[in-house]
Amino acid sequence: MSRYAIAIDVNKCVGCYNCFLTCRDEFAGNNYPGYSAPQPMSGGNWITIKEIERGSFPHVKVNYVPLTCSHCDSANCVKLDQTGAVYRRPDGIVMIDPEKAKGNKAIVNTCPYRRIEWNEELQLPQKCTMCAHLLDKGEREPRCVETCPSGALVFGDLDDPESEISKLYASGNYAPLNPDYDMGEKVLYKDVPKKFVAGTVIYSDIDEVASGAKVTLTGPDGEMTTVANGFGDFEFEGLPDNVTYTVQIEAPGYQKVTLTAKTSKDVYLGEIMLFK
Ligand code: SF4
Ligand code: SF4
Repeated sequence: MSRYAIAIDVNKCVGCYNCFLTCRDEFAGNNYPGYSAPQPMSGGNWITIKEIERGSFPHVKVNYVPLTCSHCDSANCVKLDQTGAVYRRPDGIVMIDPEKAKGNKAIVNTCPYRRIEWNEELQLPQKCTMCAHLLDKGEREPRCVETCPSGALVFGDLDDPESEISKLYASGNYAPLNPDYDMGEKVLYKDVPKKFVAGTVIYSDIDEVASGAKVTLTGPDGEMTTVANGFGDFEFEGLPDNVTYTVQIEAPGYQKVTLTAKTSKDVYLGEIMLFK
C-alpha cells in the first residue's frame, strides 16, 4: 500500500506560479467523475502562493510559500463532517465527494488551514485531490510537482523507505506549517521563513564599510557570532518571533557598539557607525 506525501522546500521556491497555473489547467472547467467537479473559471484555487516580503530598504527579501491541502492523517475536515462526504483514501489522500458534498458549505470551515474553497456556481466545497485521478491511472506525481522547475515540490510514497520523500521526511528538516494543529499533515515544509536581524557596519572616521567586524547576537538561547562581509553587511537568519536580542559589534581600534533588536518583525538595524 502507498502512503502519499509532498515535501515543500520554501528556500527552493522561486515564485514562478507554475504549480498554480498547472492546477488551474488541470481542473478549471474539467470534470473527473468519482474524483472532482470542475474548478470555477476564476478563484477557488486549490494551490496558492503566499508572498512574504521581509525587512526594509535596502535589506529586503521575498519568500514564497506554496499553500495547499495537507492531506492530514487525522484531518479535521474528515472528523467534523458528519455526512461522509469527506473521506481519506487508503493511500492517505483526503477527498471531498462532489455528489455527497453538494450544498454543504459547512465543510469549508472544518479546515483550520482554510484550504477548502467554496465553488459558488456548483454550490460545492472543493480542494486539492493530489491529482488522484492521474495517480490511479499510473502517473508518477501530481501535476503541480511535475511542472515545478526548481525542485521545491517533491512527491512520493512514505511506505517506500528508498523514496526521496521518505529520506527527506526522515531528515527531520520538514514540519507542518502549524504544528499546533497536530493533524498528521502529509504536506510538510522546510525553511518556512522566520525572522532576521541584519545591519551594515561602517568605520565613521574613513567612511568605509567595516568588513570583518565581529558581530555577536545574544538571546535567551545563548549567543551566535558572525563577521560583516565585504559590503559591511551582516545577517542572523531563522530567528524565532518576538525575542529581544542584544547585538554587539566589535572591530580592533574602535569602540564596541551595543544595540537591541526585537523580532516582532524582520529587523534591519541600518548603518551602524564605529568610532575610534
Ligand atoms: S489541510 Fe485541511 S482540508 Fe486538507 S486534509 Fe487537513 S484538515 Fe482537511
Ligand atoms: S512551481 Fe515550484 S517554484 Fe514555482 S511557485 Fe510552485 S512551488 Fe514555487
